[in-house]
Formats: sequence, C-alpha cells, structure tokens
Amino acid sequence: MADAETFAFQAEINQLLSLIINTFYSNKEIFLRELVSNASDALDKIRFESLTDKSKLDSQPELFIHIIPDKTNNTLTIIDSGIGMTKADLVNNLGTIARSGTKEFMEALAAGADVSMIGQFGVGFYSAYLVAEKVIVTTKHNDDEQYVWESQAGGSFTITRDSGEPLGRGTKITLFLKEDQLEYLEERRLKDLIKKHSEFISYPISLWVEKTTEKEISDDEDEEEKKEEEGKVEEVDEEKEKEEKKKKKIKEVSHEWSLMNKQKPIWMRKPEEITKEEYAAFYKSLTNDWEEHLNVKHFSVEGQLEFKAVLFVPKRAPFDLFDTKKKPNNIKLYVRRVFIMDNCEEIIPEYLSFVKGIVDSEDLPLNISREMLQQNKILKVIRKNLVKKCIELFQEIAENKEDYTKFYEAFSKNLKLGIHEDSTNKTKLAELLRYHSTKSGDEMTSLKDYVTRMKDGQNDIYYITGESKKAVENSPFLEKLKKKGYEVLYMVDAIDEYAVGQLKEFEGKKLVSATKEGLKLEETEDEKKKQESLKEKFEGLCKVIKDVLGDKVEKVVVSDRVVDSPCCLVTGEYGWTANMERIMKAQALRDSSMAGYMSSKKTMEINPENPIMEELRKRADADKNDKSVKDLVLLLFETSLLTSGFSLDEPNTFGNRIHRMLKLGLSIDEDAGGEGDADIPALEEADIDAEGSKMEEVD
Ligand code: ADP
Ligand code: MG
Repeated sequence: MADAETFAFQAEINQLLSLIINTFYSNKEIFLRELVSNASDALDKIRFESLTDKSKLDSQPELFIHIIPDKTNNTLTIIDSGIGMTKADLVNNLGTIARSGTKEFMEALAAGADVSMIGQFGVGFYSAYLVAEKVIVTTKHNDDEQYVWESQAGGSFTITRDSGEPLGRGTKITLFLKEDQLEYLEERRLKDLIKKHSEFISYPISLWVEKTTEKEISDDEDEEEKKEEEGKVEEVDEEKEKEEKKKKKIKEVSHEWSLMNKQKPIWMRKPEEITKEEYAAFYKSLTNDWEEHLNVKHFSVEGQLEFKAVLFVPKRAPFDLFDTKKKPNNIKLYVRRVFIMDNCEEIIPEYLSFVKGIVDSEDLPLNISREMLQQNKILKVIRKNLVKKCIELFQEIAENKEDYTKFYEAFSKNLKLGIHEDSTNKTKLAELLRYHSTKSGDEMTSLKDYVTRMKDGQNDIYYITGESKKAVENSPFLEKLKKKGYEVLYMVDAIDEYAVGQLKEFEGKKLVSATKEGLKLEETEDEKKKQESLKEKFEGLCKVIKDVLGDKVEKVVVSDRVVDSPCCLVTGEYGWTANMERIMKAQALRDSSMAGYMSSKKTMEINPENPIMEELRKRADADKNDKSVKDLVLLLFETSLLTSGFSLDEPNTFGNRIHRMLKLGLSIDEDAGGEGDADIPALEEADIDAEGSKMEEVD
C-alpha cells in the first residue's frame, strides 16, 4: 500500500466534528439520509455528464446505491456508482475547505437547533460521526486513480492511493459504528429509515439483506443419486416417507439485494391521490429541510408543450437567502424522468429562488447543454408558467392570515425584488405587499385595502421611506397629511425604495412620497388664498435663507406639508430620498460615480405658521444682514437634516452649535470650559449673554 498523507481538518470543521462527537443528540439517524443524499447527488452529476458524453459511464454503466450492514465487523457501508472524487476533491470537500454554512450551523446548534438541520448548511457528510468512530471513504473518479480517505476525527485525516478492490467508478463510505450505535445494522431499522428519509431518491437503493432458507438434505445425500431419483417416474409412497426420514432440515443463510424504493416519482402521480404527508416527505427529501413546507402546488401543463412540476414554499428563509455565492436556484430540472441539473438559472427568476421543487419536461432534449438552455424557447415558456404558479401559490397563502404573516416575514424582500425586476408581474406582486401605515395600527395593510380607505378628494397613495417605523412615524413630512386625515404607508425596508421606484402606481393611483417635491394636496379656495399670501409674505426670508445656505440646498420655498415643525428638507421627485442616500452610503463597494447626480438635491420647505419662522422673518425683514438670522438658519438646516432622515456631514460642528445654545440657555459664560470651538461660526454676540462674557474678560 502506498504511503498515507496526513491532512489537518480546517479549524471550523474540526470544531464541528468535536461538537458532533461530544454533544448528545437524540436524532442521530439522519446520518443515513445525508449519506444517501450525497450518493444521489453524485449519481446526478455523472448522469448529467453522460448525457453529452456516453463514454463517461463505461467505467460503471449501472447507476445505483447499495447499503451493506455487516454484523461481523460492525460496519455499515454505503456504495454509490456516482461521479466519485479525485484526490483533490477528497482533500477539499472532505476536510480542508470550510463551507460557508459550517459556522452558521454551529451557531444554530448552540441556539438549540436540531442536528437534523445539518444538510441545509452544506456539511451533511460529517453527520457520519454521529454514529461512527471511524469513517473510511474509498472513491474513484473517471479522471483519477482510486483513493482512500480515512479519519477518526481527532483533528486529521489521511489519504492513500488505493490498491484494493476496484470500484470502477463511485464512492464507498464505510462507517465503523460506535458500540452503542449497532442498531444501524438491523435490517428492520435500516428499511424503516430508508423509507422515512430517502423514499424519493430517484436511483435504486438496494439493501444487502440476509435471507434464511430452510433446506432439507439427506444424510447421505449425493447429487447424482438425487437426480436419478427425481428422474424416476413413479414412487411408492411408503418408500418416499422412509427417505424423508433420512433427510434433515438445516437453516441456510444467504444474502441478496432488496430494492427499497419502488414508487414512481411523486410528480408522475395524480395530485388528488397524494397525501399531505407524502408531499411533506418529498419536500424534506428534496430540500433537507427539517420542517414541512408552507404550501405546495403540483400541476402539469399540456398542449404545445408538456411538463409537470411540483413547487414548494418553505416556512422559513434559508440562512443564505441573498448570498450571491450560493447555488442560483432550487428547482431541479428533469427531462423525461432523468435529472438534468439543479442550477439552471433560466428556469426561474432570481427573486423566486426561495421556491423549491422540480420540473420534468417532456420536450427538452436529454443532452441539452447550458448554452442551449440560455436560448431555449421551451424553457422560456416553462419559466413563465412557473412564475405564474408561484404567484398563485403566494395568493393562496395570503388567504390565511397567520400563514401569510410568516411568509411575509421570510420573503417580503423577494416580492419587492420581484417588483423591481419583473415588470410583467409587478402589479400582481404589488397586491401581495403589506405595510404598516399611519392608520394600520399593529396590523399591516395591503395597497388594495389602502385604496378602499382613501378619502374623498384623495388622488394619490402616500408613503414615506425611512430606516424604521419609529424613525418615520413622527416625521415632519407627515404633519399635513395626518392633519388632513390621509393615510401614509411606512416603507422601512431598504428594498422598498427600489420597489416603489419601479411600481410608480397601483390601481391607477400614483404612489407619492411624502418626502419628495411634488406633493400636492387638495386645497380649498380659502386655503389657496391663504397660502398665496403667506408665500408673498415669506418670499424675502426664503431668499435670505437660500443665500445663507448656498449650495447646501437647491431652493427654499414656503411649505404646505409641515404643520408643526419649522421646516423640512424635501428631495427631487426623481432623485434619491434621504433614505436612499443612507442606503447607498451604506453600500461600501458601490460605484461612487452615481452619487454625484443622483444624490439628493434638497429643497428647504419652511413652515410660515411656525413661530420660529415668523421671528426669523421679522429679523430678516428688519435687517437683511442680521447675523443672528444666519446662525439660526444654519442650526435649523442641520436640525432638519436629521428630522428629514439625512445624516450630518459634520456632526461636531452641529454638536458645538447645540452646546452654545445650551450655554446660552443656562447663562454660562461663552469662554468658560474648554469646548475648543475656535473654528466654529460663532452665534451672534447679541444672542449670547454678552455682558457676562465681558465681565469674564475683565477677570
Ligand atoms: P453537500 O452535500 O451539501 O455539498 P456534504 O457535507 O454532504 O455537503 O458533502 C460535501 C461534499 O463532499 C459534496 O459537495 C461532494 O462534493 C462531496 N461528496 C460527499 N459525498 C460524496 C459522494 N458519495 N460522491 C461524491 N462526492 C461526494
Ligand atoms: Mg450532502
């Protein structure tokens, strides 16, 4: 035998192994499901390769999974004729390269999750150590020699060139069972387990079973003599009896393969004949999920094109829902019962990547290549149908409030992404949206319900975007809307900005942002007149403020949206909102070239009925160059940046301005205490207790 090479397990994998070995888990049986699922994956891979190159199967034409319990050696062996692993695969896949899910899985376990979740995190292989003290993996890939991987955990594994019995192609995993895990050698237990967890594997799983036959042999049995006897046409009964007495019964133990999964694929059966439990079992085997699905749709399309599909919506989002490195989707594509691939990007749009299931097409060619898939018309039709059915699925879920709450919590981001990306279906998707609003209380409202509540004379649907419900519900932007009794939707998910930007309207009603320019509220003639006169009255102040703020704002106008606050900062109808600016700033690696022209052009809207503004107006009208006006304007501007959802470029300057105000309020001398504020524009002397400071200087 060649020399063994020793490798250290990657640190996190090593941690995971100790956890698996040293913690008590009651649900150890899932190891078999994991190993069978790996075998099935490996078979899928070789079958897919063979579609374009038949000779890949030459090394082992049959596709199978064998399970062999061995009570003499206390081993359980699982053999598949799948793709096998090269030496490099062994090193990488079984120990040295951590999967992204390794850490997440350990955290989940620490948080009380069940060990049966392991498959979802992409580390199912290691579940072998739930029941085995030693594992030996023998494997042969078409492109390499046969190798043996061996480990008793404990930090390392070895890899050796194998000169033992050739596999042809595939992988053999031998588990040396722990003393207290010998139940997994029992035929009954194994049969039940396979039925329970691996029923829907689409390759034959055969169990090596013992068969005891009772055989009769006579003491002086002689094959030839027997044959002669059998040849005799007539026998006297008495003689026969005598002969039988000479024979004795012995038990003969032989072995044979017993096929475990005989059912035809679930999607080929009639939906009305399939129980909920069967769907659940199929869903679990398909996804490694430990929970049942939330909803399922099983349908077939016939006519010009024919396919069958089963689609599931899970109860929860996977830990890596928006991880761009993960598999593109979760729909397994079959062509006439043959598995083709599970990462066909064209089959379902990205926003639906959380939907799991299978599609079995009668029309696609078996040897379809990835390049062909991209252009394929059949696939385009399948995709269109899948999207349609998915939306139906969601609509069904929406009929049950409790289910829909769960669903919405997990997947609302996907729906919003869909509105952004799928213009054909955005209206239907928009019907599935739910938001908190100024009137919804603890519940959430749909856009449809919002529309039914719209007030007479209300033409638009109002919304406000922001970081959280708390951050927006008392925003100055809502003052007038609230006063008028108009409902405003709180859009506090980052992705809402994108979705609403695409959606633009719902049932013919424009979606209007409360924080952007162009908010026009119905006004009575009296209101209009009053507004006009106020505009005239404050025109001067607007100019003064604009001069003080310079480029910081586009323009300064008299507002009709604020009622209580002195002012607010609105953004252009087509530019970014404050919230969007915040989101974009948070995307560290974003291309910054957009920022220049997209970033919010701010308009300051002042509230003419606010006493601060009235006072400012008086001062400005009296003396255009009143210094106190300048300082107060800057302070007002900075404050409204905050209340309008922007961030401060120079928080310290703002802080110091506030501190000065505090001192003023507390009648503390300007120079007392080290605020190091030499470079800060001073508040006008007249506003400070000037006398006090002069006295201090005298000291
Ligand atoms: P996952 O199946 O989610 O990828 P596992 O921990 O179960 O995670 O398996 C890790 C990897 O080891 C697999 O992705 C595969 O590359 C390889 N592997 C495991 N079992 C087999 C097998 N029977 N045949 C070929 N490759 C296998
Ligand atoms: Mg696996």
